[in-house]
Parts: sequence; structure tokens; C-alpha cells
Amino acid sequence: MSLHKLTIHELQQMLAARKISAVELTRDVLDRIEKVEDKVKAYITLDPEGALKQAEEADREIKEGKGGALSGIPVSIKDVLCTENMRTTCGSRILENFVPPYDATAVVKMKKAGAVLLGKVSMDEFAMGSTSENCAFGPPRNPWNTDYICGGSSGGSAASVAADECIASLGTDTGGSIRQPASHCGVVGLKPTYGRVSRYGLVAFASSLDQIGPLTKDITDCALLMNVISGYDPKDSTSVQQSVPDFRQALTQGLQGMKIGIPREYFIKGLDPEVEKAAQNSIKILREAGAEIVEVSLPHTDYCVAVYYLVAPAEASSNLARYDGVRYGFRDRNSDTLLEMYNNSRSQGFGAEVKRRIIIGTYALSSGYYDAYYKKASQVRTMITADFKKVFEVCDVLASPVTPTPAWKLGEKINDPLSMYLSDILTISANLAGIPGISVPCGFSAKGLPIGLQIQGAHFQEEKLLRAAYNLEQGLNIYHMRTENL
Ligand code: GLN
Repeated sequence: MSLHKLTIHELQQMLAARKISAVELTRDVLDRIEKVEDKVKAYITLDPEGALKQAEEADREIKEGKGGALSGIPVSIKDVLCTENMRTTCGSRILENFVPPYDATAVVKMKKAGAVLLGKVSMDEFAMGSTSENCAFGPPRNPWNTDYICGGSSGGSAASVAADECIASLGTDTGGSIRQPASHCGVVGLKPTYGRVSRYGLVAFASSLDQIGPLTKDITDCALLMNVISGYDPKDSTSVQQSVPDFRQALTQGLQGMKIGIPREYFIKGLDPEVEKAAQNSIKILREAGAEIVEVSLPHTDYCVAVYYLVAPAEASSNLARYDGVRYGFRDRNSDTLLEMYNNSRSQGFGAEVKRRIIIGTYALSSGYYDAYYKKASQVRTMITADFKKVFEVCDVLASPVTPTPAWKLGEKINDPLSMYLSDILTISANLAGIPGISVPCGFSAKGLPIGLQIQGAHFQEEKLLRAAYNLEQGLNIYHMRTENL
């Protein structure tokens, strides 16, 4: 049997009933990686021996009845989350050989639950990008068609789940980086509320926007991972002291009484007709499942790209100041002075997109420009947040496309950063407002590329997102489709 094709909840039952062992499962997934990784290129670091050791341990625990929620489940982790004794590159030359001395809290929680860490997966350098092409070690590919981008920045996470090179993955989302690749690869991706999941040990891109979240094969698995990674952490001052529900409970309810808002501004000019059709079809299914559909307005949507591309680079320019060749990672050895060493280490260590963002961010924060750019952007951010607050007074969740188009060809937009930035228009607002958003597979383009539906909700309303998403998943019945193109 192809165990790698199954979900966490299916495998859990087989593991608990001792029909399969964790070692058997891990070997099966490692074989799958061996078979398709040449084409997908999802992994930056793979640790087969470590994974098999963890699987043995999981088998011991299951045997003794001490198994956790993820005992024996092989997972991949985006290479921006610190892993003790396993290198964490952030997709950058500057951290190519960086081995963190500790695990991120989300990783600790995954390990405690019994997950088997297969390795670290590919991403845009420091999570800046929408295609994963900004990875210093070459881009991962879309498992549905390897000529196409898998999305980004959590491209390796989405690709590894879609290619069955792991059972589930953790990614991060600063402006869409979980939802967008999930949409392009036909998997589920959830960005939790800002503060729901600890960011301790997540290498910072834009600290007021970053969140860690799951990428999975279906909604049930997504709820399961949310149960594991959520919760207050004293090590992250922005994590919120909020009780963690059993997210799986949300999946048992129908959609009666749920109001779903359709934001007018998200059905923009330039929206691909196939994406629009898939979204409209999903909305129809949600209505048939009992939801009430209402049209709503988020009037400041037009400003979100401009606001995000000031706030995020501003925070990044400050966060990335720490890579100075002294404390972390790469150092140029041929410099004569300290200043030269800083200059050379950063010039050689960072890629073009990261440099672009550092320059934009430094400019936006510099005296004389701060008021016009950073301060103004922060003010408009507050207005975008207020739009959502108002809308959630009249509806429970919002449904819309995730991205304006399906995946495009590798290389197509790499020299056109502005058009790349514009493709983030439908995901960015959730991060600016701190609200949760999920991408659920909802169809395919004529070329056979996946399309996702985005569902967003008010702060800490992930259960409503999951409830709507689960009903859509059941109504569409496409979630079990796996790529046959590898
Ligand atoms: N595509 C967006 C960017 O390049 C979002 C990235 C992310 O969410 N990490 O900034």
C-alpha cells in the first residue's frame, strides 16, 4: 500500500491498531522522496537516519500506550523554523551552514506530539517572495506540473505535501506564504490569528505579520495540527493567552446559521476567469450546505499591497540587521576593515530580493521619509483592520479567491517584482489585520493546476474557518485527488 498518500487521521488509526509501524511508514515516505525529489526539489536538508530513529522511538511509545497526537507521522518543516542540531538556512547563503542551538516552540510541540521530522523544506530567501524562486539553493517545483511554480514563500512545504513527500508540513505566512502555495499545490493551508501560535524560534521576517501554520492534505489534518501547535508561550511576548479549543470539534457542525460574506473588492478586474468560476462554484456549494451568503465591502483593499510593501520591508530591514558576519552565518574573510567586512558579508550573503527589501525598508524608515511612508502605511493599516472589524459584525467569515491566477511558469515573473507583489493582493490584508485565513482546494484550471478558496474570519475564530472549509471539502469531494504527474 502507498502509505505516503494517506492523511494523518487515516494513518493514526492504522498506527494505533498496530496495522503498520512508524518505521514502516517513515521508510515508505523516504522511498517516495527518493523517487520524486529529483523532480520536485522540495527539501533543503533531509535527515533519513534521524527520521528513522524518531520513528523507532514512536513505535516504542505507541507500544507502551504513551503515543501523542502525531506519534509516528512523518512531517517536513519550513527551513525558517529553528531546529536543534539541524541546519536552518532560511533559503539564504548567509545562513547556509547555520545550525541553531534550540528548537522553535512549534517544533518542540510537534516533537512532543510524536511527529517524525524528515527534514527542512525549501522557501524564498527569508520568506520574501511568492514563488520560492528566491531560494538560494534552487526553486522547488509544482508537483502537478513541474514547469510551474509551487508558490511561496512556503513552497517547499506545499510541494512536499502535494507530492506525498511527507504527510504534513509547517509553514509561515507574512503576507500569504501559507495560503498561496497551498492554493497553487492543491493542499490545505491555514494562517492562524496573529498570536495564536508562538513565533519563538521562527527566524523573523516582519515581526508584526509573521505567523506559523499547518499545510496538510485535508481539513481534518489541519485541525489536528492546530491542536498541537496553538497556545500561549511565555517565550513569545506577542503570543496571546487564549484558551485552545479542540479544533476537530468544529468539523462536526453543518453550516446552518452561518453567514458568509463575499467581499466585492476581492473579485477584482484581472481575476482569472477559471479562478472566478471555481470560487463561485464553491460559494454555491456553501450556500447549498446551509450558509447564508451576503455581499460585503472592504473599501481599503486597494491600499493593502502598498501598505504591506512598506511595513514588511521596514520590519525586515531592521530584523535582518543582525546578519552582520559576526554573530550568525557567512562572513567574508577577505576584508581589511570592520566596515568592509559588514559590507562584503551582506553583499555576498543576501540575494537580490532581500537586498531590494532592505533598501526599501531602510528608506521608508529614514528620517525625512518616515512620516510620508512608514507612518502613513501604519495609519492605513489601522483602516484596513477597521474594515474587517466592521464586516465581521454582519457576517461570520469571508469567502474569496486566494490568488488572482493559478500558478504560472517558473521564471515568468522573476524579473518583474511589481507584478509579483500585485499577485499577493488577496492574502496580504489578513496579515495586516492579524486575522486568520485558510486556503481550501476548490478546483483545477484547464491546464490541470489547482485552485484554492480563501476563507477568512475574525480574530481567534479559526473554528468557524475550519467549519466552513470542512463543509466545502465534503461538498466538493476533490481533496483525495493526488498528483499522478511525477
Ligand atoms: N509574497 C509576500 C512577500 O513576498 C508574502 C511572503 C510571506 O508571506 N512570507 O512578502
